[in-house]
Amino acid sequence: MPVYPGAYPDQRVVSTPAVRINRRLTCRRKSCYTFGVSEKLIHEIIPVGMLQCNCSILGDPETHEAIVVDPGDEVERILEIVRAHQLNVRAIVSTHTHIDHVGGLARLHAATKAPVLIHEADLELYRHLDMQAQFLGMRTPVSMRIEDFVKEGDSVRWGGYAARVIHTPGHTPGSISLLVEKRQPPEQANAGRPKPQSAKASAEAHLQAQVVGHAGEAMPTRERGLGPGRLVSGDTLFQGSIGRTDLWGGSMKDILSSIREKLLALPDETLVIPGHGDNTTIGAERAENPYLR
Ligand SMILES: [Zn+2]
Ligand SMILES: [Zn+2]
Repeated sequence: MPVYPGAYPDQRVVSTPAVRINRRLTCRRKSCYTFGVSEKLIHEIIPVGMLQCNCSILGDPETHEAIVVDPGDEVERILEIVRAHQLNVRAIVSTHTHIDHVGGLARLHAATKAPVLIHEADLELYRHLDMQAQFLGMRTPVSMRIEDFVKEGDSVRWGGYAARVIHTPGHTPGSISLLVEKRQPPEQANAGRPKPQSAKASAEAHLQAQVVGHAGEAMPTRERGLGPGRLVSGDTLFQGSIGRTDLWGGSMKDILSSIREKLLALPDETLVIPGHGDNTTIGAERAENPYLR
């Protein structure tokens, strides 16, 4: 299975336009208490590993629950941040299973016991971590058996927050983007709506983090009155670029429809945290991204 046929390891398409300055909306090395989802959300973004994958640590300062997205490497550094905020990691999510986004999954899982979640369409790619490592001339990281999967419309919940799973295939078949939103208070969330009870709910009860399925429901682009969310976009959408599609399972047609139909449907103010490089917004990419013209 040709996983990394290209000579260039960067995950973006190659002709990236000149980097624009003054677009960094959150800081990189210290806590970020920025606009949007909540003034209180802890969101640490640290570039990890050889390919500088942006790993996100998202925490609720009140309940101390957290999730970690894309722990590609440098697990000790991730754990230092988790400890500094006194967070309990409830779930570990990878936006896709390229080695730079999953290299630290097994070690972080061993340290936190938190369930690991990916989209099932990327499981095959994860099983070939050794081939990915070989193509990049890296040592193969420790891997693990992944048994928990998320799909379009699921929510991964921690404390007062939730990340809505948006399936955005194209860079890989199982690429997902995560829309982080503040959860509504329970009394509002349940108003006028029967409590969901299904076999699926009990099947998922073993997960430490609540993963709630919403298949078939329309995805709200904006929670009522809570402001725009922030999008962890993996290697699907970058500042001024899009993910490369020449690797195993990639599709230019799919990535363009994922971005146009699902991500550009979000409000302009939505903050975007890509898998590599600087932050951006949906509005800026709608207006300026040359691949979306
Ligand atoms: Zn990447
Ligand atoms: Zn990738």
